Amino acid sequence: MMNTPPPPVLITGGAGYIGSHAMLALLDNGRTVVVVDDLSTGRRGAVPGDVPFYQGKVGNKALIGRIIAEHGCRAVMHFAGSIIVPESVARPLDYYQNNVVSSAQLLRACLDNDIKDFVFSSTAAVYDGNTGGAVPVAEDDNLAPASPYGRSKLMTEWMLRDIGAATGLRYAVLRYFNVAGADQAGRSGQYSKAATHLIKRACQTALGILPHMDVFGNDYPTPDGTCVRDYIHVSDLAQAHVAVLDHIGDSGGNLTLNCGYGQGFSVTQVLDTVDQVANDMLGVGPMLRRPQPRRAGDPASLIAATDCIRKTLNWQPRHDDLTAVITTAMAWEKKSMDGMDR
Ligand code: UDP
Repeated sequence: MMNTPPPPVLITGGAGYIGSHAMLALLDNGRTVVVVDDLSTGRRGAVPGDVPFYQGKVGNKALIGRIIAEHGCRAVMHFAGSIIVPESVARPLDYYQNNVVSSAQLLRACLDNDIKDFVFSSTAAVYDGNTGGAVPVAEDDNLAPASPYGRSKLMTEWMLRDIGAATGLRYAVLRYFNVAGADQAGRSGQYSKAATHLIKRACQTALGILPHMDVFGNDYPTPDGTCVRDYIHVSDLAQAHVAVLDHIGDSGGNLTLNCGYGQGFSVTQVLDTVDQVANDMLGVGPMLRRPQPRRAGDPASLIAATDCIRKTLNWQPRHDDLTAVITTAMAWEKKSMDGMDR
């Protein structure tokens, strides 16, 4: 007798940066998917034409319920949300609305429609990154988000924990450190033109799309005074999503895992590496850097303790190298600039 294929996974935010890479990883692993995205920052072209796609809000309980019922989904990966730390400081209520209220509505639709497994995109911004020293943070370390963004993600983690305890919903919380890079085959990347993230902006600067690179703060308690982050390639992160979905389905357990490589790089080190990659790939000289004051909501240092994800999921990153991460990011930016993907 033939095995029945697993039901499709509903991906919220599947037209966005991380969601589209997780979608590709699921498809590459033989799974089927359904995507809902409001296209506020996502791009319709990121979702292949044969994947069912709905343009809508995750807070639209009726829409989500209808999609789950129509496709018989039993698992949800929830990527949709607002993700920019300084913007969350300026517009906190938008973040609580988009990230907390909408997630509550989505979870209601899931419970009403027999969703069994739920994977949530959380963030390293839930940790206290101001304790000084470049010490990796573990999943059970002190939680002290420095921004409304981090707090909005932590609130959703708490909702999930309570719902998991009260119902049969199996969940995984993945705390992303700094995600960068692009699909090696060039199928997706970070396409939002107004991106604020370090590696994307640095690549744009190297390519001459931006005139200079702002460096926010040089007086942090870190080795060179600039902030330290743990940069993970988006395709390794996407693979972790596939693995964690299988894991919670098999084990029935709920869990929270850091997603990073366990190695920190300062802003200066990242920019030096971008300069090197730009020189090798494009033959251009170093970018212009402009020192700026600290950016609101930025913790000094965030590095992942990775024992938990490596052990629990047997996860083995394949792109664990800053130069490789930046090379794929640069290739994507160049391709976008050449107009092939806009
Ligand atoms: N950063 C910077 N210049 C930029 C963008 C970011 O100096 O144009 C710094 C930022 O202040 C932080 C680090 O780079 O210390 C990573 O910021 P990003 O926005 O990429 O990610 P976050 O850690 O805020 O999620």
